[in-house]
Amino acid sequence: MEQRKIAGIGNIYANEALWRAQIDPSRPGASVTLEEAASLRSSIVAVLSEAIAARGTSFRDYRDARGERGGFVEKLDAYGRGGLPCHRCGSKLIATHAIDGRATVLCVKCQH
Ligand SMILES: [Zn+2]
Repeated sequence: MEQRKIAGIGNIYANEALWRAQIDPSRPGASVTLEEAASLRSSIVAVLSEAIAARGTSFRDYRDARGERGGFVEKLDAYGRGGLPCHRCGSKLIATHAIDGRATVLCVKCQH
């Protein structure tokens, strides 16, 4: 979740990309290997492309310019799913605010 090197990606999409890349969000950026960074980069690009195609992620009353809800909320694997089973391994996802104060959801079994 440390965003000094890759800043400005929204919290929802950071959670999703880290889940896809199977990287533990609490790890310092400097501990991420080149291979993991490449995997994270692909995951970020994929998550953002899919979210744009789905017209964003609507929570509560958000609507786009045409008054429609974003559809990406139904495709989330991590964010907002604390306590629910991981879509990859079935373990219960953990929700925490212990990493820099923001809402983070992760699978401790498949994110390292
Ligand atoms: Zn998992």
